[in-house]
Amino acid sequence: MPLIKCPDCSRDFSDSAPACPQCGHLLRPPAATPLVVVLGTQRNFYVLAAVFFGMLGVHNFYASRYTRAVIQLVLSLLLCWTIIASIVVAIWAIVEACCVRVDGNGKTMA
Ligand SMILES: [Zn+2]
Repeated sequence: MPLIKCPDCSRDFSDSAPACPQCGHLLRPPAATPLVVVLGTQRNFYVLAAVFFGMLGVHNFYASRYTRAVIQLVLSLLLCWTIIASIVVAIWAIVEACCVRVDGNGKTMA
């Protein structure tokens, strides 16, 4: 474990130490923390998806509300020949576009 000389206070200390024990001069810069950008669910996109693709549950897939999304998708695909089912799912999607403010992870949409 070789000793090195501190450039600030000229004391010797181990090169394995992250900083000088006397004056605190950093031997090496702190490791960079990885930059993580977490994009939350955007409410604007949720509403647009509900209005234009709501019958397929796209907005709920986007907001991680998978159970509702699958139900809407299945209802629309299996019962698309009945006008009633299509109307119900469309109204359901519009109501969600107006009322839902929290995604499937419990976070408020931005
Ligand atoms: Zn020092």
